Amino acid sequence: MAKYTNAVCRLCRREGQKLFLKGDRCYTNKCAVDRRPYAPGQHGQNRGKKPTEFSIQLREKQKARRIYGVLERQFRGYFAKAARQKGMTGENLLRLLERRLDNVVYRLGFASSRAEARQLVTHGHITVNGKRVDIPSYLVSPGEVISVHENSRNNNRIKEMAETLKDRMVPAWLSLDVNTISGTVINMPSREDIQIPIEEHLIVEKYSR
Ligand code: SF4
Repeated sequence: MAKYTNAVCRLCRREGQKLFLKGDRCYTNKCAVDRRPYAPGQHGQNRGKKPTEFSIQLREKQKARRIYGVLERQFRGYFAKAARQKGMTGENLLRLLERRLDNVVYRLGFASSRAEARQLVTHGHITVNGKRVDIPSYLVSPGEVISVHENSRNNNRIKEMAETLKDRMVPAWLSLDVNTISGTVINMPSREDIQIPIEEHLIVEKYSR
């Protein structure tokens, strides 16, 4: 369950766009992409070269990895699994990533970022069908109910979060019950349900080279 532990704002700066990795801070004027809109590092302001086809594909793959907080090896595993499934590999890949438990906790509004959601899961605050699940990569399926564990409901951060849920819009493949702080998986996510700035065909091209 390895994870990226260095500064995350530089990831957004490297991709040249906001990836919303830090929750509430991303909506303030402290956002590093707004303050320093160029790539990090010594040569960050001198990258004038026209991007190659390979670099465009690579950037798209890195962006998807960074949004979902997945390291390279695990990402390749998702790709291999997506390629074995019926249908379009790129869409299958996004659907797999979207079904990760940490992503679902984030989509339901139980956390302000996927990183925070991941922490809630690994610290045992989240249950699936009433049983504690502490694996962020667990893939949810239709019919499953994702909740905050009842022992965790007095946690200050979770209480704060619960107050914001009434205004929360969740994707069509999920439903949210504000009173019980739980969400149900209604369907598998479709591509239209996955609102992220990724052109998945570029990732497929990258891995098909
Ligand atoms: Fe990215 Fe958020 Fe940092 Fe802005 S504040 S650079 S959106 S992680």
